[in-house]
Amino acid sequence: AKDFGMDEAMKILGLSAINEGTSTGQKNFGNGEIIESHSPVDGQLIGKVKTTTKEDYETVMSAATAAFKDFRTMPAPARGELVRQFGNKLREVKEPLGKLVSYEMGKSYQEGLGEVQEMIDICDFAVGLSRQLHGLTMHSERPGHRMYEQYHPLGVVGIISAFNFPVAVWAWNTALAWVCGDVCVWKPSEKTPLCGVACQNIIAEVLKANDMPEGISCLINGDYKVGEMMTTDKRVPLVSATGSTRMGKIVSATVGERLGTSLLELGGNNAIIVTPDADIKMTVIGAVFGAVGTAGQRCTSTRRLIIHESVYDTVKDAIVKAYGQLRIGNPLDENNHVGPLIDTDAVANYNNALERVVAEGGNIIVEGGVLTGEGYESGCYVKPAIAEASNQFEIVQHETFAPVLYLLKYTGDVIDALELQNGVAQGLSSAIMTNNLREAERFLSAAGSDCGIANVNIGTSGAEIGGAFGGEKDTGGGRESGSDAWKVYMRRQTNTINYTTELPLAQGIKFDL
Ligand code: NAD
Repeated sequence: AKDFGMDEAMKILGLSAINEGTSTGQKNFGNGEIIESHSPVDGQLIGKVKTTTKEDYETVMSAATAAFKDFRTMPAPARGELVRQFGNKLREVKEPLGKLVSYEMGKSYQEGLGEVQEMIDICDFAVGLSRQLHGLTMHSERPGHRMYEQYHPLGVVGIISAFNFPVAVWAWNTALAWVCGDVCVWKPSEKTPLCGVACQNIIAEVLKANDMPEGISCLINGDYKVGEMMTTDKRVPLVSATGSTRMGKIVSATVGERLGTSLLELGGNNAIIVTPDADIKMTVIGAVFGAVGTAGQRCTSTRRLIIHESVYDTVKDAIVKAYGQLRIGNPLDENNHVGPLIDTDAVANYNNALERVVAEGGNIIVEGGVLTGEGYESGCYVKPAIAEASNQFEIVQHETFAPVLYLLKYTGDVIDALELQNGVAQGLSSAIMTNNLREAERFLSAAGSDCGIANVNIGTSGAEIGGAFGGEKDTGGGRESGSDAWKVYMRRQTNTINYTTELPLAQGIKFDL
């Protein structure tokens, strides 16, 4: 990692060997046990982070609740100005932060940079939004009355994030939450705690330069037990949680129990439908990047290819050939296409999926396997694999967070393909490859894809920040990022104003005294 300038990057990001994992802004502390962050790239210890205790958490919550009292009345465009400066700061540290993402999480440096770019983009979006937190005006049924709705800040927003997007998911939430007048408490994944500390250091500088109080951006660290401090806490009206469906079900039940709101961004089981009218070259690029990019550890990774029988062999051969050209290795080295999985548990899940698909009658057409030897010392590098399978296999129904792609054959028309595509519990991202307008429109229709994201002639993987991001069914139903996703970070109020000297009741009700 030294060869790739990691030491320098860590210095710029204000990281040291042991880091305080709790912060209320500029004040950093942490009295809990220590998490060691080892890089999946080379197995080396990157740094240590002190986790958050219950007492530390209380300190954070008192700073956050106090800060909210003032922050909610700061004009939204002034809050937007903070976010604008945050975006500029991110532009300055794009390279070191992108490198840290790559080294701590294992995605390619290009994807690490892409993740920071996403943070910058959402800041730009949020700055514009800070002048557009619009409500509607309505016509009252009563004379001399006016009705409108307005959006007010909500309070403390709790953010729980997954390891695979260790910095962008935080920014998707915070950039919007801040312009909406909320304060944020973030618990990053225990697998990528240094990314969390680095991001907190970046925003702390911006808040300091603007003389902002403690409590607007807070960090807590640790495993699910630290997450639970927020999910059970009535002072946190909104918990935005990104991660597995298993986690989302627990978080949703816990937050629901106290009638809080949860915004859930959970697992996917994304498919590309390849019709007889597909452009094969585009299909191969979209499918291969979708399946092996980030070593198959994106929530939008392509897990299933649903291919029409008439083009099945052609597509299969082209994809197998493309897999033959993949270079697997250190993701900081731009010559490699595929980096490591996050840890050896993820490798075990990958091995298990390959065993199970065979046990259920699948046919492996690109062999998997764990790589060993020079450059693969971390034990986290695996070969992207492809299996011919059936949609009803239990393992195919399940999201395996690794580069395992299932090929499924369909006969008949696009309706038959959609049945397979929608025939899983998850509903995040979906795509169709076709030059046939009728097929594309059917896919996008009310009877088409049941996913939150449905693409035509693009793969399933990745999304732009301008649209609302999220999915249905076991993906949790939440939406983040663009469009009107901001509304979940605010509370809506309906206002009726009477400017007469009478007090008429609604629905013409008479109540004479
Ligand atoms: P995970 O569910 O293991 O952990 C995610 C986060 O939840 C971590 O911070 C963890 O500490 C916390 N957590 C776990 N149990 C909790 C509990 N009971 N209470 C409070 N917090 C708890 O997920 P992961 O392995 O880090 O990430 C991979 C998963 O995330 C995949 O399923 C992937 O599809 C999903 N994901 C979804 C999206 C999306 O936008 N839909 C984006 C990224 C990742």
